[in-house]
Amino acid sequence: MLIRGRCHCGNIAFDLAWEPDPAEIPARACSCTFCVKHGGVWTSHPRGALEVTVHDPSAVSTYGFGTRTAEFHVCKRCGVVPVVTSRIDGRLYAVVSVNAFEGVEPSLVHRTPASFDGEGTDDRLARRKRNWIADVTFHEAALRHRSA
Ligand SMILES: [Zn+2]
Repeated sequence: MLIRGRCHCGNIAFDLAWEPDPAEIPARACSCTFCVKHGGVWTSHPRGALEVTVHDPSAVSTYGFGTRTAEFHVCKRCGVVPVVTSRIDGRLYAVVSVNAFEGVEPSLVHRTPASFDGEGTDDRLARRKRNWIADVTFHEAALRHRSA
C-alpha cells in the first residue's frame, strides 16, 4: 500500500510504502505537551519506506523540545506537522501524522492513546529504532530544480 500525505498547503508531502498492505494502521495519539497542543497522532511501519518531498525548505521550521532527540517538521505556511524525524547512530528514523493522510480510508486507522512520559532517553531511542520507519529519504524540490 502506498500512503500519501501532506501538510495543508502541500509544502511538505510524503509517500509511505507499507508492505504487505496493512489490515489496520496503528496510530498513537501522543500525550506529550506538544502533541496535545497540535493534535499529533503518529504512525510508523518499521519495514516501510518513506519519501518526504519538501517544495520550499525555507518554509519549514524544525522544532525540538524535552530530550531534543526528535525534530518536528513544521510547515511555516500552514502550521501542519506531517513528519517527525530522529537521527540515531547516524540513521534517520521517522513517524508520520495520520492526520496528514490523503485518501486513506479512515476506518483503517486505529487510534489509541500513547504516553511516553517517564521513559529514559536510552529506552526512547531504542523504541524508535524498533518501531519507527528506518528507510527515510528527503527530497528538496527547489534544490532538485536548481541542479537540473
Ligand atoms: Zn503547509
